[in-house]
Amino acid sequence: MNLQYMSTRNPKITATASQAVLKGLADDGGLFVPERIPALPVSLGELKGMTYQETAYAVMKEFLTDYTEEELKACIARAYDSKFDTREIAPIAKVDDTYYLELFHGPTIAFKDMALSILPHLMTTAAKKNGAEGEIVILTATSGDTGKAAMAGFADVEGTRIIVFYPKGGVSRVQELQMVTQKGDNVDVVAIHGNFDDAQSGVKELFGNRELAEKLAAEGYQFSSANSINIGRLVPQVVYYVYAYGRLLENGEIQEGEQVNITVPTGNFGNILAACYAKHMGLPVGKLICASNENKVLFDFFQTGTYDKNREFMLTTSPSMDILISSNLERLIYQICGRDGETDAELMRQLQTEGKYTITEEMRERLSDFAAGYATEEETAETIREIYEKTGYVMDTHTAVAAHVCEQYKKASGDTTKCLVASTASPYKFVKSVLTAIDGDAYSQKAELELLPELERVSGVDMPRAIREILDAQVRHGRECDADRMQETVEEILGIR
Ligand SMILES: *Cc1c(COP(=O)(O)O)cnc(C)c1O
Repeated sequence: MNLQYMSTRNPKITATASQAVLKGLADDGGLFVPERIPALPVSLGELKGMTYQETAYAVMKEFLTDYTEEELKACIARAYDSKFDTREIAPIAKVDDTYYLELFHGPTIAFKDMALSILPHLMTTAAKKNGAEGEIVILTATSGDTGKAAMAGFADVEGTRIIVFYPKGGVSRVQELQMVTQKGDNVDVVAIHGNFDDAQSGVKELFGNRELAEKLAAEGYQFSSANSINIGRLVPQVVYYVYAYGRLLENGEIQEGEQVNITVPTGNFGNILAACYAKHMGLPVGKLICASNENKVLFDFFQTGTYDKNREFMLTTSPSMDILISSNLERLIYQICGRDGETDAELMRQLQTEGKYTITEEMRERLSDFAAGYATEEETAETIREIYEKTGYVMDTHTAVAAHVCEQYKKASGDTTKCLVASTASPYKFVKSVLTAIDGDAYSQKAELELLPELERVSGVDMPRAIREILDAQVRHGRECDADRMQETVEEILGIR
């Protein structure tokens, strides 16, 4: 039986899994959701012996039902290979009595790799299955992590091109170097003279431009998006929670059936929603703890039932969580309003026009699986320093937000359930903030690149390949453009001007 997907705003708009992967967003602007969450096809005991790849197949085949076994296994084999620096793909570090699920062992050392290494293969397979002709052109605006992970994922994948826009001066030196040194004949990266919002709105405009779409089609191209609302990114993220449970069982850390709480440093709400899906598949998960930085829209939402983006945007040391509109929350809203497209559409309309909406009491009651908290900049830095001093483990700023919220939750609730924290980036990626948190006097004046060997000394963890590579890699991209010239730039790159 094929699992159907439908728009969160209208159940009449449906798609197969592969169509949903190809389209990204539904035509009415809604997000594709599965008609039901499938159950885990294996017992908890069976999870113990399974590799990452085997777990990925078991989970993903239940969601992506119109992919054949052969297709799905080929996608998984191409994605989770030696690009990751450990055969476990997502290892767990036990620090004190907390389990850190390290999702940063992929090619760009942040958790976006977990999904973006497989999305290109899911997409090209979907194109073949649906008879979509022409080259897929991925357009992405990035504030740092997504762009590089998408470039690395799509590099040299046949039948695809990728063009990434980032704000010049708006990303860290390490992030910029990661992007401008990216290899691959089908990748381009452009620094725009503007901020992330300019890049983002520019890309949205290009997606909505019908004239351009026709011109592209005539030349054999079609746009697609690698954005985190694509179910081709959500589904692969369910895998590592299921896998982590198997590892904890195998290592005797938990008993079969024992619940585990999961804390996730949250921005767009994709990663924590994947944990929620894992729970609904039957994984014994207790609380889903949503951790925010000072942009605490989500904390306030869980606290009050009102989502309100009308507030000052804060730039923090955990920039991948500096977000005021968490797009994937719409999927949770859909679930708690009883899968009612009209209610969902109305709330999203209010968000669009007034920047806020309030859910009903009944809907709030359905949020009892969730807890929420946030960390200030000071608390984030303190957490990095304290855990380092106590245990020697060095974590990045995003993970530290979650570590703080996890502790805060335990103290406030008295809940003694064991806790898994999603560790979303390597400390090497945010080296300056991390070392400054550990010792401000020693490190705050130094340049980012000088600090990399220092971190090796402090953490005792070897510099990952992703970092060693950028230090002596050749710069391959230098294209820049004004924010209002993005269309011309895309046409130039594709040779259709
Ligand atoms: C993207 C990102 C997040 C936020 O994840 P969401 O799925 O958007 O909630 C957290 N940490 C890091 C390092 C990220 O790159």
